[in-house]
Amino acid sequence: MSETEAFAGGALQIAARVRSGELSARAVTEAALEEIAASEPLLHCFNTITAELALAGADAVDAKVLAGEDPGPLAGVPIALKDNLCTKGVPTTCSSRILQGWRPPYDATVVARLSAAGAVSVGKTNLDEFAMGSSTETSATGPTRNPWDPSRVPGGSSGGSAAAVAAGLVPLALGSDTGGSIRQPAALCGVVGLKPTYGLVSRYGLVAFASSLDQIGPFALTLADAAMTLQVIAGHDERDSTSLTHPVADFATELKRGVEGLRVGVVADFLSEASGSCAAAVRQAADALADAGALVREVAIPELLHGLSAYYLIAPAEASSNLARYDGVRYGLRVDGDDVQAMNARTRSAGFGDEVKRRIMLGTYVLSAGYYDAYYAQAQRVRTVILQSFARAYEDCDVLLAPTTPSVAFPIGAKTADPLEMYLSDLFTIPTNLAGHPALSVPFALGEDGLPVGVQVLAPALGEGQMLRAGAALEAVAAPGARGPVRPQLGGPMAGVAK
Ligand code: GLN
Repeated sequence: MSETEAFAGGALQIAARVRSGELSARAVTEAALEEIAASEPLLHCFNTITAELALAGADAVDAKVLAGEDPGPLAGVPIALKDNLCTKGVPTTCSSRILQGWRPPYDATVVARLSAAGAVSVGKTNLDEFAMGSSTETSATGPTRNPWDPSRVPGGSSGGSAAAVAAGLVPLALGSDTGGSIRQPAALCGVVGLKPTYGLVSRYGLVAFASSLDQIGPFALTLADAAMTLQVIAGHDERDSTSLTHPVADFATELKRGVEGLRVGVVADFLSEASGSCAAAVRQAADALADAGALVREVAIPELLHGLSAYYLIAPAEASSNLARYDGVRYGLRVDGDDVQAMNARTRSAGFGDEVKRRIMLGTYVLSAGYYDAYYAQAQRVRTVILQSFARAYEDCDVLLAPTTPSVAFPIGAKTADPLEMYLSDLFTIPTNLAGHPALSVPFALGEDGLPVGVQVLAPALGEGQMLRAGAALEAVAAPGARGPVRPQLGGPMAGVAK
């Protein structure tokens, strides 16, 4: 069976065919593993491929089908996991040398829930080290390449997950989003990326970057697939103290409700900061929603542009505390020294890359006595102002529309010398994280150099339903060819320079 044949129609169709016994989970898994192996030298989406575990998982699904038991809503669907999600007995590296050789003793809650729903994990995807970055270039295992053009970045930090879905290697993947790391790579790779409301999905087993901002969410080719994945992973978990106890909505039903009467605000302040094609896509999206019956108008929320500065104080502050646990004793790498402090310093010097070190130093600085009020406390005040300005906007709007990114995928190496340039990639995604709200990137248009452009739908806390309604209306009118899967030119000019 060809993999293209198996994956046509996406995750839900695979699950339906596996459940009916028409297609075996093993055949689907084998096809995915073959494609992954073939693409790896060029794209490098994966840090670890778990072929044996995947085939065993697929066989377990097939056995259930044979026995007449329910194998779950994602039966036999291959899924890739960002390598900052803990997987029992399987290396979890965060693309960092410091976690080399570490195998978690437990599965993250999302991993356990996906497996209970019949999904088959095929491996761990590449990311910026500890999810710090917007291009997957800070990975200690080397960059992932964008399947639309392998000389470009896939975005980040969940670049491996986004590229794997965009290249058709897997129909589903999970990422984490602290400041945009699901939505930004989704936009740059022409796939759907969804960041849930803070607390809707358990963070238990997600290696912490900035705990007040981190959320796990899906990548998919279709909104229906993303919605089903969210349905499976959402819901209370007593192992995460920030997990919400609210009942989870029925996302598949929301997707079908249409946008008649939905109040949509276009975030005007972002349009002037986006490239021609990224701003144009939002205007087209707004027109399309109006045509479908939504009530569309422009809104001014200039405070959102201050989100980036606040984020780069708050996120490093939390990271400097979270990353203190990598001490050469408890996890992964150890470089010996004459005493404990020397061992600790040498381990951390050798184990962390430059960007992670930069964040730790920045975070420690802004939390230190004498600077705390001027930087960290001030950033928290800005966070409050952003929450208040969103709240005002949502008095008259059900969702907001914005570009996901300021530009299409940029060339590998283009922003590595200038951290601030790189940070600006998340200008439009970061405010949502500061507010704890959900947001979605829908592949919508083709922009400069024929590369994909995403449009972002933002909603208030627990507004996933209305967000998906707007997203579905956009998906229905998106430019043909604006979303994956795309076949990278394996024999093309980039083949020789891969990795
Ligand atoms: N690019 C942002 C950063 O570097 C966001 C990363 C993320 O969401 N994990 O911090």
